[in-house]
Amino acid sequence: MTVFASERLLFTPITPDNDAIPLIFAFPNEYSVGITSLGYQVVWATLAMRKDVQVSRLFTDIQEQLPRNPKIVGFSISWELDYVNILNLLESLEIPIRATFRDDSHPIVFGGGPVLTANPEPFADFFDVILLGDGENLLPNFIEVYKEVRNASRQTQLKALAQIPGIYVPSLYEVEYQTKDGVVKSIKPIFPEIPAVVQKQTYRGNTLATSTVVTEKAAWENIYMVEVVRSCPEMCRFCMASYLTLPFRTASLESSLIPAIERGLQVTNRLGLLGASVTQHPEFEALLNYISQPKYDDVRLSIASVRTNTVTVQLAETLAKRDTRSLTIAVESGSEKLRQIINKKLHNDEIIQAAINAKAGGLKSLKLYGMAGIPGEEPEDLEQTVDMMLSIKKAAPGLRLTLGCSTFVPKAHTPFQWFGVNRQAEKRLQFLQKKLKPQGIEFRPESYNWSIIQALISRGDRRLSQLLELTREFGDSLGSYKRAFKQLKGQIPDLEFYVHANWSTEQTLPWNHLQGPLPQSTLLKHLADSLYGSHDEEMKSKKTNFFKSDLKLHGIA
Ligand code: SF4
Repeated sequence: MTVFASERLLFTPITPDNDAIPLIFAFPNEYSVGITSLGYQVVWATLAMRKDVQVSRLFTDIQEQLPRNPKIVGFSISWELDYVNILNLLESLEIPIRATFRDDSHPIVFGGGPVLTANPEPFADFFDVILLGDGENLLPNFIEVYKEVRNASRQTQLKALAQIPGIYVPSLYEVEYQTKDGVVKSIKPIFPEIPAVVQKQTYRGNTLATSTVVTEKAAWENIYMVEVVRSCPEMCRFCMASYLTLPFRTASLESSLIPAIERGLQVTNRLGLLGASVTQHPEFEALLNYISQPKYDDVRLSIASVRTNTVTVQLAETLAKRDTRSLTIAVESGSEKLRQIINKKLHNDEIIQAAINAKAGGLKSLKLYGMAGIPGEEPEDLEQTVDMMLSIKKAAPGLRLTLGCSTFVPKAHTPFQWFGVNRQAEKRLQFLQKKLKPQGIEFRPESYNWSIIQALISRGDRRLSQLLELTREFGDSLGSYKRAFKQLKGQIPDLEFYVHANWSTEQTLPWNHLQGPLPQSTLLKHLADSLYGSHDEEMKSKKTNFFKSDLKLHGIA
């Protein structure tokens, strides 16, 4: 059976009109990865249900029959380093990889998805059009306007598309820099009718995304995915999953979630509940009760994110009965000071209680997720993380404990976007490893080098496109990026500037013309609050002293 023949569709594709727009919708990775992306599934189904579009899918390993002259080629991007595959796919379609070399004979190349919505600038030169924000309204608006200018010149098409809210046409903005390798000076539209600021789009309906296809070939075999919530109300100061997607929205239990789950469970018995903070759905308990019915006894359940203080014995029991052995909770740190700095409203006793409940409910293991190099972190904070892990072990003996740990990476549109990556983070990861392993606690650090690459792309500007093109030839290790930086010395800023430097809050950010859900003034307020605010006077003076001596952020003291 071919890969596509194994698909069970949960929608009915429409036969396109004769003059439908030939469109290729690509995922820049293998089919198994792409088809597991709920975002990709939903956009594809939306296009396949339109009479005015003839959509064909393209992955790096397989493809449907492609039109000879596509008018639009789109990419959904979930992972930064997939840009290499985008460039390869464009070449295989005989489309110039840089937008500036495309002419009226080439299709419009658009991109969307979390990576581009966060900070599209390093990739801006490769796209004609970038969709910023939720696709629900953006995509139909894009197609409708495109239809109106379908036969016009490329420049007319781009100008028309740039006037749709949330649609960003990078080539219509000019970026000036203080110096060749200095900070951004200004970002301005080239024509008066082009908006100076593009506002990311927010969908406000109470029906969220659900799988449109179930297949055994997906990376999560036969999974049916339901988006329970979108965004997260917690607003941890580093968290893009919260800040970039605000406000927090929930799918209606009666009119949306239950009918969707019933539909999905007719074709599979594997259910995934998705969202940045699933257990914060106001009717989560009712949802859990619904799934606990005996008729769903054979259902395998996965929950994307569980907030630590919502781990009840009932939740653990439901998961254990539904074939889940382990639970992951993000605690970030064992230090109360750091959790206050990042606005994680969580205490060590709640973490310990979560472990006790997980064990009582029959789960075999608990994974905790932490971070090294959080702004304000001192060596004693890491000692506190070790102590916390030991206390959990004591309180819930027999529960297998793992601490996964990444390095803090600044993300655009969050209050911590101005902080660089702490150079000590690698050593600190090693410290945790050394302390936890002998205690029988598994420690799984995320690669520090990968965090550096993430930070580079996360705070990159348009000048990075040259570097990305070069690195593509060298391979995807940190060494390859360093080699490319060496080659471009003097032409672009260095790695230190993008990754490690604390940026001034007065400098123009590469994404200044792209407006997230919150204005910069609010992000600055939240930053100031993190650094200097506290109800506890001792904590306040501790934080103030630390940051005053260490930071050169201006205008927020
Ligand atoms: S609780 Fe998790 S998802 Fe929510 S803001 Fe904090 S880190 Fe982000």
